[in-house]
Amino acid sequence: MTYLYQEQNWQSQMSDLITSPAELLNILELSVDDLLSGALLASEQFKLRVPRAFVRKMQVGNAFDPLLLQILPHHLELEEHQGFITDPLGEEQANQLPGVLHKYKSRFLLTLTGACAVHCRYCFRRHFPYQENLPKSEDWLKIKDYLEAHPEINEVILSGGDPLTLSNRKLALWIERLTTLNQIKILRIHSRVPIVIPERIDEELVSLLKNSRLRVILVVHSNHPAELDDLTCSKLSQLAKHNILVLNQAVLLKGVNDSAQILVELSHRLFEAQILPYYLHVLDKVKGAHHFDLGTEKINEIYTEVLASLPGYLVPKLVREIAGENNKTPLFGVTTF
Ligand SMILES: *Cc1c(COP(=O)(O)O)cnc(C)c1O
Ligand code: SF4
Repeated sequence: MTYLYQEQNWQSQMSDLITSPAELLNILELSVDDLLSGALLASEQFKLRVPRAFVRKMQVGNAFDPLLLQILPHHLELEEHQGFITDPLGEEQANQLPGVLHKYKSRFLLTLTGACAVHCRYCFRRHFPYQENLPKSEDWLKIKDYLEAHPEINEVILSGGDPLTLSNRKLALWIERLTTLNQIKILRIHSRVPIVIPERIDEELVSLLKNSRLRVILVVHSNHPAELDDLTCSKLSQLAKHNILVLNQAVLLKGVNDSAQILVELSHRLFEAQILPYYLHVLDKVKGAHHFDLGTEKINEIYTEVLASLPGYLVPKLVREIAGENNKTPLFGVTTF
């Protein structure tokens, strides 16, 4: 019975997302006209989308709340800036089969949905044409052939969109398919859903992941310690109890988490929830995200202080993804990036 309640609960949250800028600003008691008109304009390009549970983590009345800044459409997104383009990672070219990206030797990225629970304004996928590009059930055989022709692949990464917007039934179906291939040892799930709707970590999902033959890694995406309230942390720490490794990736964003103090606090909070910091991404130069960009100098300054303040295991790797490279590119000490 508990499980049924929870299941309904995350799904009903998914079907009750906030998409109206006026409603969001109303809830946060921010009835500022230029915020609203900017949000309405910018949301025409990339819609506002945010779960109510995430909005509850924001501070009412604070137009500069670090969680709000990540999701509120802003008129600055409409500015053109040199070097900020629609496909900064060149993913359209790397696309071999529907839903598949094989850029990194041993790892194979599978996109099963283009949908996310939240729209992050800085996301490089804001212009990516996912909808035309999802695998259907009958594409499994082609994907299987591809995997078998590439025995060096031992890890499948479910990415998106956000794979945890899918039902447990659909996830189970794909995990079962992947499990039939002996070469696949590791299943990685990249998701922001547990941060914005913690109830997504329901009993059925936990049992699906803990009973798999595959070694499971969940990589969540949290940028600020205020995202990690007690419920979120307790849901995520359940996974660790079942030998599921939980890692975090964050994006360094101007106005959101651009201080060593915030990043240090984020690492400590993650550790309390049995999550290890994995990557700290430098912003992808995607059109519409220029106002989140920090210069090289500022990034180096922040990261130097982070290094000095944390034990090595709590320091996320500072990286950038460069189109055409064979891995994420480590950045510390590099003077121009
Ligand atoms: C980031 C990424 C991966 C995973 O890389 P790791 O360094 O192993 O985390 C795999 N495929 C693509 C396309 C990626 O962008
Ligand atoms: S892919 Fe991740 S970062 Fe991008 S909008 Fe979806 S949840 Fe946000």
